[in-house]
Amino acid sequence: MMDCRPEQVVYMDNNATTRVAPEVVEAMTPFLSDFYGNPSSMHRFGGQVGAAVRKAREQVAGLLGAEPEEITFTSCGTESDSTAILSALQSFPDKRHVVTTRVEHPAIKNLCEGLDSLTGHKHRVTRLPVADDGTLDLEKYREALSDDTAIVSVMWANNETGVIFPIAEMARIAHEHGILFHTDAVQAVGKIPIDLNKLDVDFLSLSGHKLHAAKGVGALYVRRGTPFVPFLTGGHQERGRRGGTENVASIVGLGVACELAGANMEEENNTVRKLRDRLEEGLLKAVPKSMLNGHKTDRLPNTTNISFEYVEGEAILLHMDRYNICASSGSACTSGSLEPSHVLRAMGVPFTAAHGSIRYSLSTYNTEEEVDFVLEKMPPIIAELRAMSPFWKED
Ligand SMILES: *Cc1c(COP(=O)(O)O)cnc(C)c1O
Repeated sequence: MMDCRPEQVVYMDNNATTRVAPEVVEAMTPFLSDFYGNPSSMHRFGGQVGAAVRKAREQVAGLLGAEPEEITFTSCGTESDSTAILSALQSFPDKRHVVTTRVEHPAIKNLCEGLDSLTGHKHRVTRLPVADDGTLDLEKYREALSDDTAIVSVMWANNETGVIFPIAEMARIAHEHGILFHTDAVQAVGKIPIDLNKLDVDFLSLSGHKLHAAKGVGALYVRRGTPFVPFLTGGHQERGRRGGTENVASIVGLGVACELAGANMEEENNTVRKLRDRLEEGLLKAVPKSMLNGHKTDRLPNTTNISFEYVEGEAILLHMDRYNICASSGSACTSGSLEPSHVLRAMGVPFTAAHGSIRYSLSTYNTEEEVDFVLEKMPPIIAELRAMSPFWKED
């Protein structure tokens, strides 16, 4: 059935999705087989399932420095993002301004683009620009805030470049103006320390499958006392904040994934960062006309985004696929024309470089042997493609 076995694959696409940790699979399995009760049921058979969901809520809260009742389980990061923004707009119907950035994930980007048709009201959206290295200008941020602003939504870490934004400071500034602050922390949770106790963040989105839990489960943190309007109304699940019978097995797995991430974060980050740096330095050295996209240090430890000039990212990926090396490209072939990603365009990466960008995103399951394998295969792939390019000139 499957023609690409996991043991053959060099998986460096962890910002797209991650392997479910074996510990997570083990924790989920009983809730896919024997313990199928409904957590809302009155009987003990359901009640014990409810207890497992409660434990998971504590585990998620524990990783974030939050209280369990501040965590609402959702179906994914996208749902958490939509819930936060739409809740803020419904809580403050007179405020029709949203502040965000030019480099958000489509979950926020496309939501903001469609706000008017979604809500039936006219909104103003300010999209903050970024510098060449993908960082934000806080002066421009301050200037963007107004009496009319209902919510600020800024991602914690960028999925394409790994660049980290100064969320603590940005949330503080929002609160100085009495404005709610949301962060899409899908790429940050489990990779860098987060302590919401100490922050002015009102909403935070996370997604299970980006931190070694299953696909189709996420969570939204809502600070205690923050006005809230549900996105999915229905039963009384999640204390009325999100109707729908809980995805119990995945929620239990998310709890375990959060606990694992918290316990191993520092050590894992050191090993992952070393592998990432080895890969990055090796590629930049071995391939002429290659460059790093994104700030060198204000960055997730697992991500490197490198442009190989005068080649197409999708062609590179196809050649990498021959060796079962999995990564992502910063250009997507939409309706026949190659369009560089909005993130790289916002950073002003020249077209010749944006087209040939590859994102390698590592995890704790990668090895030094895998990095060396990629370092061996990449330079000839790029050379081969450049030899066919009419624009490439060796100098
Ligand atoms: C993956 C991702 C999302 C979407 O999460 P899903 O669970 O796939 O809906 C949102 N934001 C960022 C930054 C992401 O990387």
